[in-house]
Amino acid sequence: MQQHALLHELSRMSARVGRNILLVQGAGGNSSIKHGDLLWVKASGTWLADAEHKDIFVPVSLGMARAALAQGDERVPLASGAGTTLRASIETSLHALMPHPVVLHVHSVNTIAWAVRADAREEFARRLDGLAWRWLDYHHPGLPLAKVVNDALAKDRLDVLVLGNHGLVVGAETCAGAEAMVDEVESRLALAPRSTIPADIDALRSISAGTAYRLPKDPQCHSVAIDPFSRAIATSGSLYPDHVVFLGPGLPVLEQSEDLRALASRMQADGLPQPVALLVPGLGCIVRKDASDGAEAMLSCLALVTCRLPLTAQVRYLTQENESALLNWDAERYRQQLTADRGPD
Ligand SMILES: [Zn+2]
Repeated sequence: MQQHALLHELSRMSARVGRNILLVQGAGGNSSIKHGDLLWVKASGTWLADAEHKDIFVPVSLGMARAALAQGDERVPLASGAGTTLRASIETSLHALMPHPVVLHVHSVNTIAWAVRADAREEFARRLDGLAWRWLDYHHPGLPLAKVVNDALAKDRLDVLVLGNHGLVVGAETCAGAEAMVDEVESRLALAPRSTIPADIDALRSISAGTAYRLPKDPQCHSVAIDPFSRAIATSGSLYPDHVVFLGPGLPVLEQSEDLRALASRMQADGLPQPVALLVPGLGCIVRKDASDGAEAMLSCLALVTCRLPLTAQVRYLTQENESALLNWDAERYRQQLTADRGPD
């Protein structure tokens, strides 16, 4: 197939996947296609959902991407004459390593709901039986993760990688094959969400009136504040990289008796930034007025993941070391999270 047709196919598939919040949230996830020595991979900070109406893919030389990995370079330069200021995804090395023509990485909700559990190994083995898959413990996105993927691929031909506390990577011959594989894994790992009572919109409006906060756009996100078990998980620690980068470690709670302004000044006194999102137990969530669509999508993701975790689940959180590596990884990125919509894509 011609390069143009391949990119068209990749764009269509990526946009479809990117529009499904159960597979991708905000700038998370990425996809790529190989053509000769070129790897076309999603640019950092762009949204898969935009693939059909924006140029979100950039070309890198496969040889250079693999050499960058061998030399321990985090960033892979674009192929000469790329004619764009975009940067290749931080996961470019991972895409280059996979031998498959098409690679798709998603933060799919059902996979994450299993991949944050310490007690799920047997369940994975049973549910993914027959697929060429491998579990990989959590590693910092980018180079550290790519090195582990490199080791796994050196031993076996693998089509599916389950990334602990992170998501899913699949490789396939075609775009349709990659999309079908993600669907297959997600349906094998499907978990029923706990239903929850609706948010108390009036109460949330009156709490946020005259403050720097507002209601979120997606009503699905409120369950993380209303369901006591979801809330306990969300406030106890960080589950996966985008949770940390977009929402900060854990999530703060505004008790119903507490005044939002008092909480804000307490956090300011402690030298903490005003949280992007706050959970109001039993009522719902509120977000900062300047919260980006990306941050809001991460809040929805957290609600979708936590409401799929059974009460008996042994949740494995990212360590403080993992969290600070993510927060300091690209300080500028974190500082600008509200406007730049950047994340460990
Ligand atoms: Zn990822």
